[in-house]
Amino acid sequence: MATKKMILDLDTGVDDAMAIAYALAAPEADLIGITSAYGNTLVDTAAQNSLKLLEVLGATDVPVFLGESHSSTSDSFQTMEISKAIHGQNGIGDVELPLAERALENKSAVDFIIESAHNFGEDLIIVPTGPLTNLAAAFEKDPEINKLIGNITIMGGALTVPGNVTPYTEANINQDLAAADFVFKKAKNLVMVGLDVTLQTLLTKKETAQWRQLGTKKAQVFADIFDYYIDAYYNLDINKDGAALHDPLAVGVAVDPDLVTLLPINMQVTTDDGRTIGDLSRLKDPVKNNFAAVAIDPQNYLDRFMEYMLKVLS
Ligand code: CA
Repeated sequence: MATKKMILDLDTGVDDAMAIAYALAAPEADLIGITSAYGNTLVDTAAQNSLKLLEVLGATDVPVFLGESHSSTSDSFQTMEISKAIHGQNGIGDVELPLAERALENKSAVDFIIESAHNFGEDLIIVPTGPLTNLAAAFEKDPEINKLIGNITIMGGALTVPGNVTPYTEANINQDLAAADFVFKKAKNLVMVGLDVTLQTLLTKKETAQWRQLGTKKAQVFADIFDYYIDAYYNLDINKDGAALHDPLAVGVAVDPDLVTLLPINMQVTTDDGRTIGDLSRLKDPVKNNFAAVAIDPQNYLDRFMEYMLKVLS
């Protein structure tokens, strides 16, 4: 079996940071690059956060590419106050990391996605954990690649539970409704890891204390970043029992879909109210190109998450 190649498309905030660590630890795929998105923070900040975190983890061979700076239907982007409250002013829990020694690649995120689709095709997995703007732009620039990319596993959307921005809309989808709708409909194989399952996988300070016990600098950094997020969840009354492992769960499902129950359903994003629901025009199509994660054994995933994190933070 050829090793799968993975691209993470990240608006690097707190749970994105965990997704980077998880992807580096996962033996099932090689992380070949990180493309940067706006969302939890500005795209430039997200890109620098990714570079810094890769250095903390000693993964300085993973290139980072700059993506689109705003949605496909707007001219600019400002980080929402709620995002700053949840992820910190700098996106990574206000933990100050040294400036990255490496620079961003000259190639754009869109061109790297296109090139990788042609190079790796069926063996390529893309995991977007922010808005789907970069992927939509890549699909538009090269209309062949949607049929080449083997697997797209997104963190975003909500099928069986309410949204977290409006009663219908999840935050990543909300950033660019048109791009999300376009990608859902064009993708050959898109798995939606949404709030239906991510809100079931909560991490607490009991687990981050286990990271601290490793005694390494990187374990302390990652524990500090995630503890900020746990405190934000508590103080903002989002959840007092822990903080959701949104983005690392998407990476987990991308390399091991058996972690969740997948419902085959061709989906759309309604561009008026941002719902991720079945697409009536494709409902009877015998070929399903979207799969929604609707159930999970949370403890099973948490065990896997801790196994990988303890490995990569040692
Ligand atoms: Ca994210």
